[in-house]
Amino acid sequence: MKAESLAQGLVCIDCGAAHALGYRLECERCRGLLELRYDIPRLAKTGPAILAGRGLWRYAPVLPIADPAHRVTLGEGETPLLECPHLAKELGVRRLLAKFEGPNPTGTVKDRSSATAVGAALQFGYAATSVVSSGNAGSSIAAYSARAGLRSLIFAYERASAPKLLHMAATTADLIIYKGVYDDLIPLWDGLVEERLFFDCGASRNAYKQEGKKTLAYELAEQTAFAPPDVVVAPVAVGETFIATARGFREMREAGWIAKAPLLVAAQAARANAVVRAFRDGGAIVPLKIGYTVAEGLAAGNPGKKGAWVLRLLREQRSLAGDAEDDEILAAQRRLARTEGIWAGPTGVATLAVLIRLLAEKRLDPAQTICVVLSETGLKTEAEPPSRSGTAFDADALRRLVRERLGTT
Ligand SMILES: [Zn+2]
Repeated sequence: MKAESLAQGLVCIDCGAAHALGYRLECERCRGLLELRYDIPRLAKTGPAILAGRGLWRYAPVLPIADPAHRVTLGEGETPLLECPHLAKELGVRRLLAKFEGPNPTGTVKDRSSATAVGAALQFGYAATSVVSSGNAGSSIAAYSARAGLRSLIFAYERASAPKLLHMAATTADLIIYKGVYDDLIPLWDGLVEERLFFDCGASRNAYKQEGKKTLAYELAEQTAFAPPDVVVAPVAVGETFIATARGFREMREAGWIAKAPLLVAAQAARANAVVRAFRDGGAIVPLKIGYTVAEGLAAGNPGKKGAWVLRLLREQRSLAGDAEDDEILAAQRRLARTEGIWAGPTGVATLAVLIRLLAEKRLDPAQTICVVLSETGLKTEAEPPSRSGTAFDADALRRLVRERLGTT
């Protein structure tokens, strides 16, 4: 926990201008997005031996929170990388892995970015945080803010699932439900960020927040003895997870920790597929008016500058982007649960649904090692439960049923 942060500054991704470390959301010169830069020669020299401790803060050297007292934690990270042999066989894939983010403290990958977002709020002396959320980010930011003793203003989507709303209402005193979708509120809220009333815990611009998700890549590398999978399918709403994962692999490649970065494939819900459309058409992103999708966490019709960044990375890597309909996502959710016992939420399994499509369309080589990022637990899913009409048994009826079910009659 005492490891030094090797963060050195912020660099504009558009014009390359360098900025000192500080709470800055965009480039002074061109208003481009900023990303954090680290002492890569030092990482090259030490190798992975620089990593110490467990969980997310094991990666403190490559995170931007300098003071160990600001490294807020609820036990996030160190999530399992699960082999999925049954599903791999069904899909005809040589090796299928699932990076399952459900075991994080609030059940989602967001806990990685909440740890560094709230850590940065402490670092820059803020007393309050805020986020506009479709559900998962809200409960995660609220939980980490509570943990750090900060106030949190959580703006939550009116159609967020009941378990998500319950979670948010429990972890913040300031839960505000908004009308419309994420895209309706985010421009207004982003404008308010400039007034510095609260620390920006949104996904659009804050480099410190995004950084926590980079640990996904570091964990994937460590869990595969620094020979990461050939392909990683990552979810894209605004693009934080995708961009951060790409960054993590790039840093490790530059430092010589890994020989080759995986091909990062972008997965979206068909009802919120602005990035996939632009990638397919070869043009720029055209914001979409969207409605509801079961993949609530992917419901962003206008991914803004981050979406353009994802598009740039996809084109640079000559990668792939795919989408899936809601019914395909729900089918993938059940299939994963039945074949491998993994209960991930619809937002989380959109990656699997997209993988199934890409394989069916023969756009991915099944002879590779493929990893899907399952970004959330299934335990916050809201759906009709199975029928609850019970059966009364006597001893014979019970024995008959068991024998029938197991085929031993
Ligand atoms: Zn710039």
